[in-house]
Amino acid sequence: MKRALICGISGQDGTYLAQMLLNQGYEIWGTSRDAQMTNFHNLVTIGIKHKVKLVSMALNDFRSVLQALTLCKPDEIYNLAGQSSVGLSFEQPVETLESIATGTLNLLEAIRFLGLPVKFYNASSSECFGNVNENEADENTPFRPRSPYGVAKAAAFWEVVNYREAYGLFACSGILFNHESPLRPERFVTQKIVSAACRIARGSNETLYLGNIDIKRDWGWAPEYVVAMFLMLQKSEPTDYVIATGESHSLLDFVSEAFEYLDLDWKHYVSIDIQLMRPNDLGIGLGNASKAKTQLGWQANYKMKDVVREMIKYNLMNK
Ligand code: NAP
Repeated sequence: MKRALICGISGQDGTYLAQMLLNQGYEIWGTSRDAQMTNFHNLVTIGIKHKVKLVSMALNDFRSVLQALTLCKPDEIYNLAGQSSVGLSFEQPVETLESIATGTLNLLEAIRFLGLPVKFYNASSSECFGNVNENEADENTPFRPRSPYGVAKAAAFWEVVNYREAYGLFACSGILFNHESPLRPERFVTQKIVSAACRIARGSNETLYLGNIDIKRDWGWAPEYVVAMFLMLQKSEPTDYVIATGESHSLLDFVSEAFEYLDLDWKHYVSIDIQLMRPNDLGIGLGNASKAKTQLGWQANYKMKDVVREMIKYNLMNK
């Protein structure tokens, strides 16, 4: 039985990845900064909390990382932990950099120090690219991040490349574009929109305040994206992959799709709040995942409209 250690198992991707790997027959270990205090709400929601072993690990503390790896002795490590909000990274740039760049470095160093024959996946992000205008970003597109989060993810990406090349570690990064699900917290704009639209459909008399609705993003479906992470670690050679749908839609499209699904006209319920604009937002996110299609046999089946539909269906059935 293979053993996987999922760093950041309490999050959206960690939970779906754990579920997928359990179905593949893996023994799953997962980390949280404080496993005693975290309620692992997502794991409880999908009914797998009792099937995974949970340990505390602070990524920015090398001793803590060494301890978790020594205890678990994993065959595969998935690093999904770290401050994951672009918006919050402008408020907490140091926390963001430490949890992502120092955290990834500590994991790579611990693997090297312990001499573990482990395969390592790092959660990189399309935010590394910055503005690509209408061009699709692929694995050869240069990085020009425009947020503390993007800067931290870019640093972690190059750490992984360096440890692969310098020390021969099996380490790779998935450069994932935005991916959503019912497990997304409301801090993220997609869930904020879906939750508000569903409350309004149930009779709430509220206004949904948004920042820049002209930004365009390549939105995919999280349960599909975790499959790509797994496939990267099943290859005989490590390399990095862009994971995306190849379609870009504006936030306004997302909003109107959500309200339309509920037979509502968004114009009656949405207002722009200038305070919600970011200091430095990306205009367009659009990815080209052809390498993943050719080498991993992976492609996104769910596009933006499917994502909206599934998030709303879940909300209507469960809230
Ligand atoms: P998530 O739901 O926010 O989960 C990340 C986990 O990391 C949390 O459950 C939390 O676990 C831990 N964490 C949060 N803040 C931290 C901090 N300051 N220091 C250390 N650990 C912290 O994120 P996700 O959406 O599942 O994404 C997984 C990974 O993929 C993240 O690294 C994210 O940046 C990256 N990514 C996500 C997307 C996307 O669209 N979802 C796209 C590209 C890349 P505990 O509280 O239990 O410690």
